[in-house]
Amino acid sequence: MLKKETPDPGAIRIAIAGQPNAGKTSLFNALTGSSRNVGNYPGVTVERRQGKYRFEGKQYDVVDLPGTYSLSSFSPEERVAQKELLDNMADVVVVVVDSTALTRSLVLLAQVIHLGANTVLALNMSDEAHAAGQFLDLDLMEELLGCPVVETEAHKRVGAQKLKSVIARAVEQPGEPRPPVLGERLSGALMSIESMLANTSVKREQRNWVACKLLLWDREFTPLVETQGEGGAEAVAQAAVLRKQIEEQTGEDISVFVAERYHGFAHGLVTETLRQRPRDDARVLSDAVDRVLVHRVLGLPFFLVVMYAIFWVTFTVGEHPMGWIENGFALLADLISANWHVDTTPALRSLVLDGVIAGVGGVVVFLPNIVLLFFGLALLEDTGYMARAAFLMDRLMHRFGLHGKSFLPMLTGFGCTVPGIMATRTLENERDRLVTMLVLPLMSCGARLPIWMLLVPAFFAPSMRAPMLGIIYLFGVVLALTLALLLRKTVLKGEEAPFVMELPPYRVPTLRAMLTKMMERSWLYIRKAGTVILGISILMWFVTSYPKADAHDIDAQIAADRATSQEEKGSIVAALNLKESFAGRLSIAIEPVFKPLGFDWKLVMGMIGSFAAKEVFVAQMGIVHSLGESGGRSESLREDLSRNYSSLAGVSLILFLLIATPCMATVAVTRRESGKWKWAALQFFGLTVLAYFISLVVFQGGLLLGFG
Ligand code: GDP
Ligand code: MG
Repeated sequence: MLKKETPDPGAIRIAIAGQPNAGKTSLFNALTGSSRNVGNYPGVTVERRQGKYRFEGKQYDVVDLPGTYSLSSFSPEERVAQKELLDNMADVVVVVVDSTALTRSLVLLAQVIHLGANTVLALNMSDEAHAAGQFLDLDLMEELLGCPVVETEAHKRVGAQKLKSVIARAVEQPGEPRPPVLGERLSGALMSIESMLANTSVKREQRNWVACKLLLWDREFTPLVETQGEGGAEAVAQAAVLRKQIEEQTGEDISVFVAERYHGFAHGLVTETLRQRPRDDARVLSDAVDRVLVHRVLGLPFFLVVMYAIFWVTFTVGEHPMGWIENGFALLADLISANWHVDTTPALRSLVLDGVIAGVGGVVVFLPNIVLLFFGLALLEDTGYMARAAFLMDRLMHRFGLHGKSFLPMLTGFGCTVPGIMATRTLENERDRLVTMLVLPLMSCGARLPIWMLLVPAFFAPSMRAPMLGIIYLFGVVLALTLALLLRKTVLKGEEAPFVMELPPYRVPTLRAMLTKMMERSWLYIRKAGTVILGISILMWFVTSYPKADAHDIDAQIAADRATSQEEKGSIVAALNLKESFAGRLSIAIEPVFKPLGFDWKLVMGMIGSFAAKEVFVAQMGIVHSLGESGGRSESLREDLSRNYSSLAGVSLILFLLIATPCMATVAVTRRESGKWKWAALQFFGLTVLAYFISLVVFQGGLLLGFG
């Protein structure tokens, strides 16, 4: 859940609105500095940031609204933004626009003003606009709009101070934003509907906006207003009459007509205030690059190379710091075991060593990989290449019955399935959304990366490791696409929504922005290790440690094996105890089911842990490994694995862990986002059964062909 920044009742509330890529988040960071709270994790809708700052002794609370091109009830982000603006009317709404694409951006500004907000306009990307030779008459613009205008360069925090003081002034003396000039016909219609809203609970400053929504036959506002007594019903009826009239007179659909009026307003504003036009060649370079990077043939290999490079860095560069962390935890474990005698509170000692340190250490060790991967993704996002990738993918995605926009949630799924599923809210079509959501767990998430980091080196030679990692990810993607097509042809038949997406220009990203993004996401991983994983590790330690094996059985086994050395005896005790534990019993009971896949009960035990959270597999194997050994630290877990299982069993295991059983958080969020248990169950059981059959075919097929 989103942890609310303790709301200060006296604080001034600021909302930042703008189109995707206009620089909202950059501006938000510039205003709030380091005091913020990002909630792009379980339970949060489209990424929502809250933060605060102090200025001239006053407290300001800032919220970063989802990026929207306009305000309506069409897409989920638009609904969220509109609702936030209408219900929690902020004291000041800062509209951030991309100055290099003014006309298009100003439509949102017109709507925010129309909505009755106390508005401040931030002309962002002013550096790029100036470089392209575009200059505006800011005074005239302020006059025409009736609201303050500030030029900013958000990613470098230029203009942030000025903006703060302009906001402060706007709070003291709210401007009189002029309602956008929408033409006589529309204005007249709105005024007549507005007058009927006088006796309803619609706030005065919002009446004109609500009137417009009624005229547009908005599916949220219409029923809401209709029930507001006589005035409400009257207004809705009047809106219906006027809508018909306008459509007949103009021959245009009402939504097209209204959109054109807004666009006309924005266009007029730009034409009047433009002192110097931008040169036409401003985007020549960017367009030239795009001819190659979004080329239907050349684009794809480039994309694959980029993804491969990111995985290569993740893997190879991450290896060293990983070793340091590994050694650190080993040192800590050695220190504790040396100073804590085996016979003093042995249960607690085992809990700390085998439960907490082995479990959490096994997860934290992969932090370098996670950090590097997130850095790579931030780089793709901030340079603008991510949008190209989505565009490029659209052709492909369509072939599989998915939407180009499905690509972004799926890419997010590489980080974590949960926010990936939340991000499917960007899809307007319910079916597109469900398909994407259902196959999303096949995108190998960040929590599975530790598993690959453990298993890939255990079963493959150094030169094969990077390619294998790539193949694992690719296999997940291919399988996801195949399943999507299957779902589209069966359970979820229907039309596809058209794809509209624009490509932002390429930008040189700032290191600070990328590092911030990387840290925010990595922090979520650590937090998970410190809370959920810690809890599960302790639980897992318990079910793997109790009940203990019978002393007679141990003696009998020692006699049977003719074990003499202390070491041999110790390892027999540990192995028997593990087998007798709750987890051992369960795993042994279901081992026959997994035998044909090449798994023994120890692997099954690790997989039980991965239901709770994927990376627990690693923690679990760590515990099993440390318990199964005779005290002294001999070989690493990886060596242990590669000695005990064939490479064929390794491949089968990797496939099973890639495909099967989305984690509990995924199941929960799928249930909530789809609204039905049915879909969560289909996802959970469907993927698990599929994983079973794929691993079965691979393992048995491999045996027949003589591998393993
Ligand atoms: P959002 O989608 O509106 O939140 O946009 P972001 O804040 O994520 O910014 C999108 C991209 O534009 C990032 O790469 C930023 O570094 C970059 N950016 C933001 N503001 C400016 C600016 O004023 N000038 C330039 N040149 N780039 C900017
Ligand atoms: Mg943003």
